[in-house]
Amino acid sequence: MNCPNCGRQDSGVVDSRSLGDVVRRRRKCLACGARFTTHERVHVHDLFVIKKDGRREDFSREKLSLGIRRACEKRPLPTGAIDKLVESIEAELYKMGRGEVSSAHIGDLVMEGLRKLDHIAYIRFASVYRTFADIGDLKQEVDSLAERGELTPTNQLPLPSCETVSALAGRKRR
Ligand SMILES: [Zn+2]
Repeated sequence: MNCPNCGRQDSGVVDSRSLGDVVRRRRKCLACGARFTTHERVHVHDLFVIKKDGRREDFSREKLSLGIRRACEKRPLPTGAIDKLVESIEAELYKMGRGEVSSAHIGDLVMEGLRKLDHIAYIRFASVYRTFADIGDLKQEVDSLAERGELTPTNQLPLPSCETVSALAGRKRR
């Protein structure tokens, strides 16, 4: 925690207040005496992500958020829905109490969350994240969603069937 005034690292805590999972600390720089406030997110432990190729990297909330935002681009989602999803996934990861988690597991949690939130975002994320062997796999995924009735929540338009799309396209040409 560097002093915003002189850049030194040593500071003393003057006051500390917990706000949920964030701690607000009033600090005083031991070098120049400047006072400043920090907001520190409390994590019980560090979390590492194990990537598909075996590399390890720090878990990044920003990366998680970016991936979800990309999938949800231009989707009519309620304000704060994405942040809520990011928070719930992050909480889930820390709750597991392990020091590392596979990127595949994070991807599964995102898919699970998006499936409930918005089916277009879900399919977008799935098509990027999951390496579908071929388009048949993706179609299977969509079909199984449709069968379980999860593809058409009341507030979303049903996806037209391939036959409907072909029929419409054919009509337009005439
Ligand atoms: Zn200072």
